[in-house]
Amino acid sequence: MKALVIGAGVAGPLTAMALQRAGVDATVIERHDHPDPEAGSWFCISPNGLDALDAVGTLDLARDLGSPTRRNVLVGATGRELGTLPLGAPLANDTPALTMKRSRLTATLAHEAEERGIRTLWGAGLADAHREGDHVVAALTDGTTHTADVLIGADGVNSPTRRLIDPSAPEARYVGLTNFGGVTPGGAALLSGPDAEPEQWRMVFGRRAFFGHHVVPNGDVVWFVNWPRPLISPGERAATTHEQWREQLVDLMDGDTGPAAALIEAGTLDLVADNTHDLGHVPVWHRDRMVVIGDAAHAPAPSSGQGASMAAEDAVVLAQCLRDLPSIDEALAAYEPRRRARVERIVKAGARSSSTKSPGPLQQQLLRAVFRFAVTEKNTAWMYDHRITWEDRVSVR
Ligand SMILES: Cc1cc2nc3c(=O)[nH]c(=O)nc-3n(C[C@H](O)[C@H](O)[C@H](O)COP(=O)(O)OP(=O)(O)OC[C@H]3O[C@@H](n4cnc5c(N)ncnc54)[C@H](O)[C@@H]3O)c2cc1C
Repeated sequence: MKALVIGAGVAGPLTAMALQRAGVDATVIERHDHPDPEAGSWFCISPNGLDALDAVGTLDLARDLGSPTRRNVLVGATGRELGTLPLGAPLANDTPALTMKRSRLTATLAHEAEERGIRTLWGAGLADAHREGDHVVAALTDGTTHTADVLIGADGVNSPTRRLIDPSAPEARYVGLTNFGGVTPGGAALLSGPDAEPEQWRMVFGRRAFFGHHVVPNGDVVWFVNWPRPLISPGERAATTHEQWREQLVDLMDGDTGPAAALIEAGTLDLVADNTHDLGHVPVWHRDRMVVIGDAAHAPAPSSGQGASMAAEDAVVLAQCLRDLPSIDEALAAYEPRRRARVERIVKAGARSSSTKSPGPLQQQLLRAVFRFAVTEKNTAWMYDHRITWEDRVSVR
């Protein structure tokens, strides 16, 4: 069996490596040239996502890139701790969630796939695809065509594959939050007390924006700002320099509890003016031997902390289905019910947390109760403690 995997983000290279384990010959197609491992922001992969990386033999690569992260601590505007969100049980080898630069992970996974002999075509994107008999023919933007038995769209939240499968498929939705991220070299020296503790994301519900920071083992501090505001237009983005954004962010956080303003002032931005989107219910995931996975099929808002983990889980489960079921149509039909309820529940959880980023005093009281009684280790185990056993066989029943 031959597969074309569209996209070399998180899901694409992982799918290709999982398919290789299943005996399927996969080619990855990425519209961009080789990725810059230093471009872009930081994110956190949860134990459930790391478990999926482990199924493909890439956990050690992630461990080399990641900073251990065991909890999110939520702090109110007055400095009072509202609660601690557990990030799930560590893996059996005591690997907890890992914070890392997203681009380092995607570059590493793409490199690893190539090292394992997986053909990756860089610099030309999917333009069109259609079924011809038992095959799918894909046309790329460089004018070449490629034929395979199945086409897997791991092409992100604005997926062209999603539209090829269903021209009326929904588009991603702006959730009312903009996202900025940065790093403060040696920033740990600016911190004291609970702010300086390692292995946590410490997050503050500021008066005008939500801020989080994490101390990495070399003493740098990575941080993000979620600023609730109307969508940033391309014109505004083009007219605003990084320095101007940074000044606005310092003003935004000024007077809030915690180290936000000081860290932003001494730091550099690596994610600028990103409009936050999510994608909930996509009615059609597969048709005519084409299927969407990862953000192309379901994109939780970043505040869920689960998008990349969902993409990694998808990669493994889809490869299991293609490995075990007698036909591609049966494999794609079996894949969807194994994933849909879980990922849509996570998108909903992400949408809820995106809507509470700058709560008033009364809402903060409520949040305190929520964090104490509702967001417990037990209540979030369904999300973080999910594990996939590669050897488990998939059957249609
Ligand atoms: C600011 C921010 C913070 C986040 N924080 C977290 C977090 O803490 N934890 C977490 O788990 N997730 C987080 N996420 C979400 C996470 O990054 C995504 O869920 C994850 O990257 C999805 O992986 P993917 O492979 O499906 O898509 P992507 O990683 O987006 O990869 C899609 C790839 O497809 C390529 N592509 C697109 N169109 C074409 C085409 N026509 N032809 C060929 N290639 C194409 C793109 O260039 C890209 O390389 C965050 C996201 C953002 C924006």
